Parts: sequence; structure tokens; C-alpha cells
Amino acid sequence: MITFKDLSLVYPNGTPGLKNVNVTINEGEFVVIVGLSGAGKSTFIRSINRMVSPTEGELYVEDENVLDLKGKGLRKLRTKVGMIFQNYNLVNRSSVFKNTISGRLGHTGTLRSIFNLYSKQDKLRAYENLKRVNIEEYIYQRADQLSGGQQQRVSIARVLTQDPKLILADEPVASLDPPTSHQVMQYLKKVNQEDNITTIVNLHFIDMAMEYADRIIGMRDGEVVFDGPVSEVNEKT
Ligand code: ADP
Ligand code: ADP
Repeated sequence: MITFKDLSLVYPNGTPGLKNVNVTINEGEFVVIVGLSGAGKSTFIRSINRMVSPTEGELYVEDENVLDLKGKGLRKLRTKVGMIFQNYNLVNRSSVFKNTISGRLGHTGTLRSIFNLYSKQDKLRAYENLKRVNIEEYIYQRADQLSGGQQQRVSIARVLTQDPKLILADEPVASLDPPTSHQVMQYLKKVNQEDNITTIVNLHFIDMAMEYADRIIGMRDGEVVFDGPVSEVNEKT
């Protein structure tokens, strides 16, 4: 589903972000990328939906080289790719429900969303997804009245409402305490298993990665230094 072919990225100031990355990720996989700060994990993830632009190589998402995309093609790609961030990226003053249904933005268009012209089906979908992460009781609360873990669950509901082919989570638990981190990881894993949505998660703790990943990609200085199932981690590192 995703193929990196000799992919490199050098930032405009000359800093290397990725160096010759070759990786294939199959549909339905739950992949965790681990590495120290600055290893290139964010750059890896952000290349996939072209939040950053690789400078060399090829990167296929469902048979389309994303390096060739612009305008409409890029918008279509981003509708297929759901993003989850460390700091949740919710609209603070908006309700949990409004934040969740905004996952439909890529499908309805901005103008319709401004006038709240979501279909009944979209509204039901948003509600169902809030139920899936057990946060529906807060549906009319402002997003910023929720705890970090609750906000991250809302951001999972929003991504589900987007109906993506792929979920990219960039340090989704880095701002949360350990029990809450596990809860969020369990929801991500559950969604991956139930809906078979390919999921790539960046983490900086290897033990957390070992607990949830099917496959681990280790990065250092922009390079992939390990790629294999959890069972191989201890042998090789
Ligand atoms: P990680 O997510 O593993 O912390 P990043 O992908 O953020 O790593 O960073 C990889 C390298 O690219 C680091 O050296 C970082 O400083 C650099 N980098 C990241 N973003 C930018 C940017 N916008 N401009 C220049 N350098 C950047
Ligand atoms: P992360 O570890 O999640 O990548 P960082 O703290 O490294 O977060 O980066 C925060 C922001 O600063 C990101 O948008 C990243 O692209 C940018 N950034 C990181 N390193 C550099 C750098 N050396 N020069 C310019 N921007 C950078």
C-alpha cells in the first residue's frame, strides 16, 4: 500500500531528514516507528501525506507517486490519510461533536462545513465514532474542557469520521501519562484490527512499541536501521 524507494529528504536549510529509505508497508499493518528525537520519524510520517516534500526517490501510496501530486491530487491524497498529532490539534472552543464531524471536511468541502451542512449520515457517523472511543458523553462539551487522553480519543473519532485508508499518528502519546498512553494505544490498535486501516505510529519508547506493534521500524539520523517483527527486536539490537 505504501512504498518508499530510495527516498531522501533534505530540508531547505540543508539538514537531512531522510536518507535513502526503502520500506514497503502492506494494507492493514500496524507499524511503529521508533528512534530518538531527530531520527527522522516525523519526516517519515509527514512525507506520506506530503506535509513535507521529499527531494529524491519515489513514494507510492496506493500506486500513486505522491511526489508527483499537486492541487487536486494532493487534496485527494490527504482525504485518504488521517493524521493524529501529539497535541491533538482540536479546535479548542468548538464542541467535541463539531471537532469530530470536521473529519468530513475533505469530503464535504469548506463552504458546506462553514454552514454546517453535514448530511444526517455524516452526523450519525460522527456520533458512532465517538461511541467507539467511549467519549460520547462529552459530545457537547468544549474540546479544551477535556483531559489530554480524552482529547486524543476525540481526535481518533475525528480521524475515523474522515473514513481514511490510512492513519498516521505522530507521537500520539508523548504528552500523556503512562496509563492514559496505554489507553490511547489500545484504541488505535482496536481500530486497526476492526477496520483493517493501515496504521503507522511514531513513538519514542521501545517498550510501548513492543507491546502494540506488528512490525517495528527503527530510525537513526534519517536512516532505517531496523525493520522487522517485534520477535526479532531482541536478537538484532
Ligand atoms: P523525529 O520525528 O524523529 O524527532 P524529525 O523528522 O522531526 O525527527 O527530524 C529529522 C531531522 O530533520 C532532525 O535533524 C531535525 O532537526 C530536522 N528537521 C525537522 N524538521 C525540519 C525543518 N522544518 N527544517 C529543517 N530541519 C528540520
Ligand atoms: P518533532 O520531534 O515532533 O519532530 P520538533 O520539536 O523536532 O518536533 O520540531 C517541531 C517543529 O519544528 C516541526 O514542525 C519541525 O518540522 C520543525 N523543526 C525541527 N527541527 C528544525 C530545524 N532544525 N530547523 C527548522 N525547523 C525545525
